Amino acid sequence: MNTRIQFSDFALSREIGKAIEDMGFEEPSPIQALAIPLIQAGRDVTAQAQTGTGKTAAFGIPVIEKIDPTRRVVQAIVLCPTRELAIQIAEEFSNLLAHLPRITVLPIYGGQPIERQLRALQSGVHIVIGTPGRVMDHLNRRTLRLDEVTTVVLDEADQMLDMGFRDDIELILRKVPQKRQTLMFSATMPKPILEISQKFQTKPEFVRVEYAELTVPQTEQSYIEVRERDKLDTLCRLIDMADPNLTIIFCNTKRRAEELSGKVRARGYRADELHGDMKQSQRDRVMGGFRKGTIEILIATDVAARGIDVDDVDMVINFDVPQDVEYYIHRIGRTGRAGKSGKAITFVTPKDFTKLREIMHYAKVQIPRMPVPSESDVAQSKTRVVFEQVRETIQAGGLEQFVRIIETEAEGDISTVDIAAALLKLQMEMGTELTAEKPSGEVDFGETGAEHGMVRFFLGVGRMHKVAPKDIVGAIAGETGIPGKAIGAIRILDSYSFVEVPKENAAEVYNIMKDRTIRNQPTGIEPASGKRA
Ligand code: ADP
Ligand code: MG
Repeated sequence: MNTRIQFSDFALSREIGKAIEDMGFEEPSPIQALAIPLIQAGRDVTAQAQTGTGKTAAFGIPVIEKIDPTRRVVQAIVLCPTRELAIQIAEEFSNLLAHLPRITVLPIYGGQPIERQLRALQSGVHIVIGTPGRVMDHLNRRTLRLDEVTTVVLDEADQMLDMGFRDDIELILRKVPQKRQTLMFSATMPKPILEISQKFQTKPEFVRVEYAELTVPQTEQSYIEVRERDKLDTLCRLIDMADPNLTIIFCNTKRRAEELSGKVRARGYRADELHGDMKQSQRDRVMGGFRKGTIEILIATDVAARGIDVDDVDMVINFDVPQDVEYYIHRIGRTGRAGKSGKAITFVTPKDFTKLREIMHYAKVQIPRMPVPSESDVAQSKTRVVFEQVRETIQAGGLEQFVRIIETEAEGDISTVDIAAALLKLQMEMGTELTAEKPSGEVDFGETGAEHGMVRFFLGVGRMHKVAPKDIVGAIAGETGIPGKAIGAIRILDSYSFVEVPKENAAEVYNIMKDRTIRNQPTGIEPASGKRA
């Protein structure tokens, strides 16, 4: 369909051309191919494309080409929703500017000492990349002037509006001379964006990369049919089996992300959550851990994960079927990036099938079903992992002294094969320790937010199941034999509850209650996550 457009078709300056080459870009991405010529022609553009499709360079390249380095005034401003993104965009710009050292770019965002930004602004910068809040700060202090700005970019415009930046954005746009180029980039195109466009753009050109092109071909997609209450077990098996380096798990709400994060951590995985209501410093900490690999599993909501740029994510799990098709595409776009392969698995409960069919229809993909992994699947893939390591170790050499030990030990009725088998068994048991059923006795449930000496549990039953405190006390006391008065604080919410039990009984309560019911509902018991709701 498309005769492929090359960067050389854009008549770029030699310096930018070289930078693009240094960055390893071989050809423009579809959104770049569409947007760059329009921006170069001076048009106002509103562009929609999935995350990870190269939108930054789509505006970065033509915006940089417009800058006059001899005039040390702010000539372009990029607004984006978060500090994380401001830094990422500034980095991409710096790379594009590698051979244009006279053009300066400055990210400004909350949380950074304002003095440093003041000094940089005073020395004269050409391009400012900032969050609307901090940009407003500087405008109010009159430390940033926009009267020479000729280009404004709203990046991740949908998210900025979701985050309540609309008034700030409108105020900022009013401070920029009318005679300017206004560009908007967004992953989705809800109505408020069109309103901003109508108000602040002149004869805008709309470009969009369609779903079919959006789908990441390197991502292997499948779904698993699973009941709500089996989701957690299935999830853990998948992770054990695939043994991914980095996984992102998507939940539809902040509540669910928080709850799941606690449960997954309680099972011994290095997981953390990312949702829209977190402070920037918390987000930075979590993302930093994920990049470094100290956090292997990121449990995220759609809004929170938007715009985050981490390569090497090898598995995405949709713990909940996303509410709309675009979310599905964004989510799976988190893996299979930069030519690497990735897996995307969607959990589908019986009531989700309509939604799944809708997603396949609009995203123009066939998503095959995969069987629920069994215990033996997990064991098999563990064996495979062990043997890979064994082979690598043999190849690396240096085993002579160990060979000698084995030869000495293998005498009489013990063969070397027996020894190998026993070592394999030990190795496999070691690997399963973390995720195996909780043994009874003292178990560390981690920080559950309980009072001292207590463990707080989450129960998947609540007011809507007509559950009252006496039902919870009755069920636990009746099933486990611990006295009702030993049971601590109980909190009942609409669809779930919390109960605290003494630490010494916690493992027993957990092991027994996970197979019992309260008011005919499975208890769904899990250790609660650290924060008190
Ligand atoms: P978006 O803003 O659409 O989410 P980004 O601009 O963050 O996407 O780009 C995602 C990644 O793709 C970045 O690492 C970027 O350097 C890289 N990239 C951008 N354009 C190209 C290209 N034409 N070829 C190869 N990689 C590219
Ligand atoms: Mg972006």
